[in-house]
Amino acid sequence: MLPQSQPTNRRIRPRRVAALASVTALTFAVSTSAGSGHLSPSTTTAGATPVTASHTSALSACMISGSPVVQMSEGIPTLPGYARSTGVVRALTVMVDFSDAPGQGSALDRFGEFFPRTQEWFRTSSYGRLDYRPDAPIRDWLRMPKPFRAYGIERGAPFDPGYRTLVQDIVAAADPTVDFRAYDLLNVLVTPNAGPSALDTVLSVTFAGNTEAPIADGVPVANASFVYSRQDDGSGSYTQTGYRVLPHENGHVFGLPDLYTQEGGGAVGHWDIMSEDWGANNDLLGWHKWKLGWLDGTQIGCAALPGTSQYTLTPLARAGGVKLVFVPVDPRTGYAVELRTREGNDEAVCRPGVLIYRVDADIDTGMGPVTVYDSQHDTGGCSRSPNVHAELSDAPLVPGESFVDSRRGIRITVVAADAAGNHRVLITRR
Ligand SMILES: [Zn+2]
Repeated sequence: MLPQSQPTNRRIRPRRVAALASVTALTFAVSTSAGSGHLSPSTTTAGATPVTASHTSALSACMISGSPVVQMSEGIPTLPGYARSTGVVRALTVMVDFSDAPGQGSALDRFGEFFPRTQEWFRTSSYGRLDYRPDAPIRDWLRMPKPFRAYGIERGAPFDPGYRTLVQDIVAAADPTVDFRAYDLLNVLVTPNAGPSALDTVLSVTFAGNTEAPIADGVPVANASFVYSRQDDGSGSYTQTGYRVLPHENGHVFGLPDLYTQEGGGAVGHWDIMSEDWGANNDLLGWHKWKLGWLDGTQIGCAALPGTSQYTLTPLARAGGVKLVFVPVDPRTGYAVELRTREGNDEAVCRPGVLIYRVDADIDTGMGPVTVYDSQHDTGGCSRSPNVHAELSDAPLVPGESFVDSRRGIRITVVAADAAGNHRVLITRR
């Protein structure tokens, strides 16, 4: 339970319910991907290829993977079944309402709450490698045949039976005008007056890699994100950052796990939109960018061998250069090292520097697969921005500081920063 003295987490905590729903849904992903080779290349058709055989050899020790029982893993490469995350990605977007929750205002205004900002967010975060194309071929509210309450959608609702029925009804209503084969994923923007306020319960959820989903035009609606009540904290920032629930939910569609846990955002703080999607804009971890194919092999350092190695990290928000150094500990875990600054999608950075975090591919979504190392422990952090986990806001290391895992003989030292803001790090391991 969260102490009452952390009111900014009050609204984040309910999101674990969405995680439970995702976990339930992802049994589909497991049932279809068990036995798949973890090293098989992704089936990307355009843009950068996420992980290919050409950089498999140099980076193989850093391509950690989880055991097959992990439903949604941080492992690289991402298992098949999710939507592709590079090149042109077409997002079919429908706005739905119900007789007991009729859409208020125009459906296109609801669309405008999320676009074009969501595709701009993806373009910025991916250095242009994800060309996100939202498409709303149905310009009005799509009225569902049953009242909202009849679908039984509540916190943690599994795919069956409520969501299956809802998807079937969406497909039936949209099919006359929509060719589902033309799209990589489905966004369902539910009228915000359906269900509880997001201040009380966040219903938003994604069912990813769901090959047992209803079929439309011969293809399963396998990757679908549902967004409900507005994540409006009353601070006045909704119009600026309220869209961020959608890039979070779409992150699942691309195979990213939840990084918040039952305790809230305390494991990763505001360093990844899969951890905190309320409040000020934020980016993804470099690990996630590698996983999504937005970094290529030349931008990754793999410090797998005993001895000392040196890297010059460039700010994660800027295109080009080395973005991520990984220090593998075993085939399932390791430390990631990256440089975070206040630019690009990272609006809330108050102590620029080198962020170090542990990635465990054997820990499932919502259970804490990533843990940020806080270089300034128990300080309360440097951010007072609403909905930003304050304690971890000052987590990065600045020149002169080191991270040490003495048990494993790993030391990571930030040596210096140059005039351009790049940071030199020294990694030693026995
Ligand atoms: Zn989530």
